[in-house]
Amino acid sequence: DFGTFADFVALQAAERPERVAIVCDDARATYAELDGLADRVAAGLQRDGVRRGGVVAICASSSIDYAAVFIGTLRAGAAISPLAPSATPAQLAAMLDDCGASHLFTDAAVSATLAPVEPGLRARRVALEEGAKGEAIAAWLPEDASVLRSVEIDPDLPFNIIYSSGTTGTPKGIVQSHRMRWPHNNPADPPGFGPDAVALVSTPLYSNTTLVHFIPALAGGGTVVLMPKFDARRYLELAERHRVTHTMLVPVQYRRILDVPDFDKFDLSSFQLKFATSAPFSAELKAEVLKRWLGGLIEYYGMTEGGGSCMLVAHEHPDKLATVGQPMPGHDIRLIDGQGRLLGAGEVGEVVGRSGAMMTGYYNQPAKTAEAEWISPEGERFIRTGDLAMVDAEGFFTLIGRRKDMIVSGGFNIYPVDLEEILREHPAVDEAAVIGAASRQWGETPVGFVTLAAGATIGGGELRNFANARLGKMQRLADVRIVDELPRSAIGKILKRELQDRLADESA
Ligand code: ATP
Ligand code: MG
Repeated sequence: DFGTFADFVALQAAERPERVAIVCDDARATYAELDGLADRVAAGLQRDGVRRGGVVAICASSSIDYAAVFIGTLRAGAAISPLAPSATPAQLAAMLDDCGASHLFTDAAVSATLAPVEPGLRARRVALEEGAKGEAIAAWLPEDASVLRSVEIDPDLPFNIIYSSGTTGTPKGIVQSHRMRWPHNNPADPPGFGPDAVALVSTPLYSNTTLVHFIPALAGGGTVVLMPKFDARRYLELAERHRVTHTMLVPVQYRRILDVPDFDKFDLSSFQLKFATSAPFSAELKAEVLKRWLGGLIEYYGMTEGGGSCMLVAHEHPDKLATVGQPMPGHDIRLIDGQGRLLGAGEVGEVVGRSGAMMTGYYNQPAKTAEAEWISPEGERFIRTGDLAMVDAEGFFTLIGRRKDMIVSGGFNIYPVDLEEILREHPAVDEAAVIGAASRQWGETPVGFVTLAAGATIGGGELRNFANARLGKMQRLADVRIVDELPRSAIGKILKRELQDRLADESA
């Protein structure tokens, strides 16, 4: 039968009240404390008039209060909209306006960010931290949660509204229902999250990447160690100190952690399973993680919209590290061409997927929701991922990149990943990103941006010649630029849009 995430936390609080639910810096909360705090948040929201179907926003770095607001909002029957503190003031104002949140919980840093758009904000402000605008949460919270009226939750009501990363455009509000987030229903729920699990959460809580790990860890009665600001060495210290068993990291975090000079001196023997998702994870890096960091490694491929999720159990398939694995249980994943026709094995196509855990739609955006759908010949609703992939005979998917990033040069399709791989083969290159620059002759022509390995010196022209000697005639790079850093989102995705803007600014 149906139980929401908030119900699971209540259950854990009844079964193991003294178990530590969350550790964050020097603070900790037991399940009884977290549950009590969430009840008070729910009672406070109800006092303010929040009812079933309401929306509450939070924009702050990770903390125990953040978790309590998240759970308390659900308990009041409302949906939580966790917003990215890294968004610009204009984006935040637009997201708040779009979701129509009655309340906004913030910390001091976000409050300062919001200053320029302050006059236009309608949500009631609650300050999680001194220096944030609004009533202090301590004063806002009702003393006594017994006034809380329990709300019957309809599984199809919104659980959360998560704004997409905006990697490829304006953030869209993705509505996930309680059913989609029902612990044990979501096939993305990782295995092994029992009461003995200790999960280190070092990605921001607003992201689906984090929630697929954070929610099952708490629903299962384990301990979550929150890391509000990622630092590779501190991550290792926390992992050792708390005897961490599970973690979710994005690929660039794996790189940074393995690069900590005395990585091998840390005792990481408590790890059982590590997860990865969000961005391309190279086969070499996966192999290095498997070799140097004991415990299993599972990579997820998927999107906040749901539907098309794959999973690679890397420690069981060392020969498939270049893939993102096979469809997760309960997922039907297919590849289609530009005209929406199904493709066969060996062909590159857009990934479309269907499962019991799919978004209800984009909030307030029926046209965008319809655009994101693909209806199968049998009349079933699939979600279009915008990602290109190939599938092998055993059903393992290899990602080729985002459809929007594909370069069309002289009528020929160029997949940036092919060029990026060649550039990375040069020992002087650390990271590479290839985008299409406007070209009068070809329509588009590929341009590479690379960062150099520590201590390396080389010119862009030499790298271009190196790559072009190994590429097909139609794939050749027009230019290679050396940069100090590639632009990344807070969750570690390379922002090709920003590279495009740089080129556009130059030619303007
Ligand atoms: P927006 O939709 O606003 O452009 P986004 O697509 O980056 O943002 P998310 O839903 O967080 O927002 O990310 C899903 C995307 O991340 C997928 O479509 C895919 O491109 C990429 N991705 C997820 N997992 C992996 C993975 N394991 N390997 C490579 N790419 C991945
Ligand atoms: Mg997306």
